[in-house]
Amino acid sequence: MPEHFRRLQDSALYTRLGVVTVLLLLISLTSSARSDLPSLGEDASINIEREMKLGRSVYRKLLSVGLVETDPLLDRYINDLGFRLLAGIDNRVRDYRFFIVRDDAVNAFAVPGGYIGINRGLIAKALTQHQLASVMAHEIAHVELRHGLDSMAKGSEINTKTILAMIAGLALGGPAGSAVFYGGIAGSQQAMINFTRENEYEADRIGISLMGNANFDPQGMPEFFAIMGKLSGSSGSGIEYLRTHPLSNNRVAEALGRAQNMPPGRNQLDDYLLFKDFLQFVSRNHLEDQGSDFRRALASVKAGEHDRADKMLADLYRRDSDNIWYGIAFAQNLEHLERETEAELVYRRLLDIFPGDYVLSMHLLRLLKLVGQYESALVIGRQLENGFPEKQQVYFELSEIYESLHQPSLRMMAEAEFHRITGNPQQAIRLYDQVLKSPETDLATESKAREKRLILLEK
Ligand SMILES: [Zn+2]
Repeated sequence: MPEHFRRLQDSALYTRLGVVTVLLLLISLTSSARSDLPSLGEDASINIEREMKLGRSVYRKLLSVGLVETDPLLDRYINDLGFRLLAGIDNRVRDYRFFIVRDDAVNAFAVPGGYIGINRGLIAKALTQHQLASVMAHEIAHVELRHGLDSMAKGSEINTKTILAMIAGLALGGPAGSAVFYGGIAGSQQAMINFTRENEYEADRIGISLMGNANFDPQGMPEFFAIMGKLSGSSGSGIEYLRTHPLSNNRVAEALGRAQNMPPGRNQLDDYLLFKDFLQFVSRNHLEDQGSDFRRALASVKAGEHDRADKMLADLYRRDSDNIWYGIAFAQNLEHLERETEAELVYRRLLDIFPGDYVLSMHLLRLLKLVGQYESALVIGRQLENGFPEKQQVYFELSEIYESLHQPSLRMMAEAEFHRITGNPQQAIRLYDQVLKSPETDLATESKAREKRLILLEK
């Protein structure tokens, strides 16, 4: 597999490249700042497509420097939560993308186009899904009301500088990078602060009604304000979210008043605590052996006590065998114990309950690859390709499977799809050209490559 392709995948590598990465990113940004980012003139009304383009470019940078949590189960949870809130919007035009940011600062932010980042630091502070939903609903409201874009249209320079500061900060990594990043975002909001105090009230108002429409408990909003209020009292100015979202008495009182006049939400699909435990499991080096049975089991996995974890997780899974969090943790631990056949059985049983489920299918596919069952892995990979044709990860896995099965043309086709989705159509077209030139390519693949190449060229 070509080196550049592999590198796209290994986001950790970017972080390790350190200084070189900063330079590369800055170079790529100076060129892409002109081509990718919309130019925001005085009178330019920013259309949705440009908004999406700006959002996508910021999101991709975050992804490429390893700041986006990519665990599929966690990623799906945060997106399910977000999309439940979006159900309350009529005639929605934006494709939203919610993501967890691998950063412990308490913060959340919206990038135009519907890219909404929530730091794991903020998730750690939210005690219920309703509290977390209140922050996400507020950020959705900023996007829907196009807050910030008016101000950006008034000063394109602020915008470009901000994005530059963000990217430079991100590439530095660690706390210093984080400070530059949020400094960048906060700085841009500082510049807009005169416009946005009203915007914040408006986002609260629309946000809480989104919560109501989606059947979340609106009390989550004043509750989360109370938590933020306490944090600002104890640990002072370290809370990034409060820098961009100052908590005035007015703001708190209004949220309380609104919540009291709304019915309590009944939306209690509450995997929230499992989600929080699993997020800590994925993101930390060590978990304290305390709290719920699930958390203690995960702590054992983290500590390398896989036999102990096996007993605890088997017990949880048996008691609640359609619980996907228990099932996946159980199966992953079985993989650690090199009991792959049993792990496969757990994934397959869960897939009987949730046919075609993306997360379970990905886990099963990776396990089958690991044990060298490429033909079986390919069956799952093809199902995933049909069900989720826009998921880049699917094509990454498929390309590896085709490589192992010595099918170079199909491998290149999968790589081309990967590049198309990740916003690199030139590379995709080059790969289609190679497919068309290769003597290995069969007729069906050839015509598919020709068709896909044409679609990209016409764009
Ligand atoms: Zn806000």
